[in-house]
Amino acid sequence: MAIAIQELTPFQEVNLFLDDSADRLGLSDGLREMLRQPWRELKVQVPVRMDDGRVEVFSGYRIQHNGARGPYKGGVRYHPQADAEEVRALASLMTWKNALVNVPFGGAKGGVQCDPRQLSESELNRLTRRYTLNISHLLAPNRDIPAPDMGTNAQTMAWMMDAYGQIHGHSPAIVTGKPVELGGSLGREAATGRGVAFILQEAATDLSMDMDGIRIVIQGYGNVGSWAAQILHDSGCRIIALSDVAGGIYNPKGLDVSRIAENKIAGIGVSEYLDGEKVTNAELLELECDVLIPAAIDNVINAENASRIKTKLIAEAANHPVTFGADQILNDRGITILPDILVNAGGVTVSYFEWTQNLQEFRWEEERVNDELRKVMSKAYQAVHEKVASQGINYRQAAFDIGVGRVARAVNLRGFV
Ligand code: NAD
Repeated sequence: MAIAIQELTPFQEVNLFLDDSADRLGLSDGLREMLRQPWRELKVQVPVRMDDGRVEVFSGYRIQHNGARGPYKGGVRYHPQADAEEVRALASLMTWKNALVNVPFGGAKGGVQCDPRQLSESELNRLTRRYTLNISHLLAPNRDIPAPDMGTNAQTMAWMMDAYGQIHGHSPAIVTGKPVELGGSLGREAATGRGVAFILQEAATDLSMDMDGIRIVIQGYGNVGSWAAQILHDSGCRIIALSDVAGGIYNPKGLDVSRIAENKIAGIGVSEYLDGEKVTNAELLELECDVLIPAAIDNVINAENASRIKTKLIAEAANHPVTFGADQILNDRGITILPDILVNAGGVTVSYFEWTQNLQEFRWEEERVNDELRKVMSKAYQAVHEKVASQGINYRQAAFDIGVGRVARAVNLRGFV
């Protein structure tokens, strides 16, 4: 019996994009299977002594999807939905993303299935240390280098580095996205959001869209969404709606993004901003705008709501925010989608710079980090755009063809089979 598109797991969905690309690239069945499946998967128990004395046991994962092009690289997610299939999907996307921006890494992802908002600082510290110890035999600066993702941040990376260092000695290159005081790179925190803005600026030129006053809706106001909002606002775009997990705010005249940033620091949610109309996250996605930027969780644009999306352009700052079924509907409707593996690659690009700086025990100025980031993002965008223009395929197909093609070549050159 055929599986309905909506019933596919995130990993099955990502593999549909891979299969589509493998068809165009003419890859053999054996090679496809090597590219489809993760090379190594680890599931660990993460027992944590809670502040009230109870022990709670969480499930943790580190999935190394493909290491043909270099050490495994990818973030660690703390989220209630971070199960094996989600982490597999995210690990696979890291493989294609790292190849697309041509950083010398394979793809991996980690996760702990928990709700970090329900855990105290000390519980998060203990959970992170136990998780790190339980996966530490897979990690090393030349083997597998984690980074932050949803629900984790620079503090989480500091705890991971410390826990790893207790066994292996001082090892700043074991994680990226660390606090600057512990060897983190200047510019890393803003890098993913800055990369979103770079890609949007390049695409707007090719699509003849004037960025000045352009109406942008952003779902998610965490690391990626908040930096993207601020940088795009500062460059003259009009951010008309923003949200966090509790809901969103809409004002067609434009939001005062700096005020919302100040509110966040004061612990005030996005939807508590007064100068606008409250909207739910579902309503926010269907607002009329020029650019829609999902920057929170996966699968938010799906077969159910794709026909009601009212934008010209979607820039996927989140990983896998558009399902395979929705992708087809949106393409048919003529809505351009700039894919996750291109749009949000700024984070891993500056993670690569951070790792390089750590290995060289040298620090770059922030200006150099941002300049190099722009060069890498621009090169990747131009390669994708050139394929779109010359082959008549869409941006996702072009991005996958470049990423998958590079990994396939690396696998063949290594002579695994
Ligand atoms: P984060 O934890 O810093 O922020 C997540 C934001 O999404 C928060 O504002 C949260 O309130 C909101 N959110 C959570 N659940 C939601 C829901 N159900 N509906 C609407 N909003 C919800 O996470 P982040 O690091 O900004 O990551 C966001 C996305 O970007 C993820 O898909 C992640 O994989 C991707 N990404 C992050 C990086 C990075 O460098 N942090 C790099 C590449 C891709």
